[in-house]
Amino acid sequence: MCGIAAAPTAEEVFVLLESLQHRGQESAGIVWVENGELKFEGGMGLVKDAIKKFVSKGPAIGHVRYSTSGGYSRIQPVYNKRIALAFNGNIINFKSLEPSSTWDAEALITSITNEITKGYDLFEASKKVLSKAKGSYSIVILDREGKLVVARDPWGFRPLASDIPYIASETAALEDIGRRWTEVPENKIMLIEEGSITKEDTLTEPKTPAYCSFEYVYFERPESYFNGVNVHVSRVRMGEILAKEKPAEGDVVIPVPDSGRSAAIGFSRASGIPLDEGLVKNRYMGRSFIMPPGVREKIAMRKDGVVRDVVEGRRVIVVDDSIIRGTTMKRIVKLLKDKGAKEVHIRIASPPVRAPCYMGIDFPSKEELIAFGRNEEQLAKLWGAESVGYLSIKGLREAIGLKHLCVACFSDIYPFPISEEEVKQMLSTHRA
Ligand code: 5GP
Ligand code: MG
Repeated sequence: MCGIAAAPTAEEVFVLLESLQHRGQESAGIVWVENGELKFEGGMGLVKDAIKKFVSKGPAIGHVRYSTSGGYSRIQPVYNKRIALAFNGNIINFKSLEPSSTWDAEALITSITNEITKGYDLFEASKKVLSKAKGSYSIVILDREGKLVVARDPWGFRPLASDIPYIASETAALEDIGRRWTEVPENKIMLIEEGSITKEDTLTEPKTPAYCSFEYVYFERPESYFNGVNVHVSRVRMGEILAKEKPAEGDVVIPVPDSGRSAAIGFSRASGIPLDEGLVKNRYMGRSFIMPPGVREKIAMRKDGVVRDVVEGRRVIVVDDSIIRGTTMKRIVKLLKDKGAKEVHIRIASPPVRAPCYMGIDFPSKEELIAFGRNEEQLAKLWGAESVGYLSIKGLREAIGLKHLCVACFSDIYPFPISEEEVKQMLSTHRA
């Protein structure tokens, strides 16, 4: 998962990237135009560590990158002498776009540059390549003259918002810098020159949209709007519907901070069971997954503190947004029981994650997904909890309230067929 931004200066892109930091902490980069040349600054880690110096002159684009696995030292924007691009998503057929490429950003920049060499202008070259791409992309492409192409894939998997000439993955980032915003519709490509739109078009024949439901469940900031729906409000509804679908007898509802908070509010409201803060996140703890095994588990146990007075002797309903590997929940049940919780009922405000995402969310393989091949009773036993209850896919759809959603990670049914060969190419060479 990633975040992208564009603005008239590198300084503004830097600020937008910090507002999008939650979408990726692995690496970050900026490319800007300086005297007719493209300049790059970027590196591994958070925006403030990766991007140290830049000249706040011409138009710029930027990227924050996320991957669940270590060892990926790739940084966007990718760039050459002519163009630079940054995108959020995953191109499934990148090998057929450019057989020599080893990952999708490289496939895109190579094929777009090839079309420019053939004589197409930036807009036409980008459109030609993107219309053939299968997968998800919200993308910004900058050339050395300062022309900017912005596009969102025909299915609309990933978010993208604009207040031309400002572009950001999420609406909240634009609000952070005091801008208004509209969302870039799916299947749209536009050219921005000197601060205004000079060309726009659709990319392909219209497709059935497949807005990523996991953007609502976990990824986006609560303040953001995605396809017109506020993310926090959708999460509260997930919690409300969960309370109806999987009621629990309990004395207190507590969220797993911070991602479970909106859903816990909804669960409490719908069930009438009071909401309280029982788990307290240590904001300054290092990220545990970059630590070696052994150290990792010890640090993970210290990530949350427990308020004994809230949980001791009580039946605790703990609400989180999602479960991937199950490591968070296993640890939390142990912490709560150690502090005297009488019962622990786990409620998850999304359906079980059972299938890999090929559209840009980096889940581990099927075998590592804890809900793959296990039911709620088996999970409760595994985690030492009294009960486990997940939201249904129907409930998730109702909470978001949109007809056209991608729920492939929950249903194992993809918006388009994906061949075994394509899966193999993605797994062997690439992460979004
Ligand atoms: P688990 O510990 O089960 O592997 O992960 C579940 C927890 O991680 C939840 O609290 C959820 O908020 C968070 N989470 C869900 N999806 C992702 C993701 O793609 N990346 C990261 N870093 N955390 C996630
Ligand atoms: Mg979480």
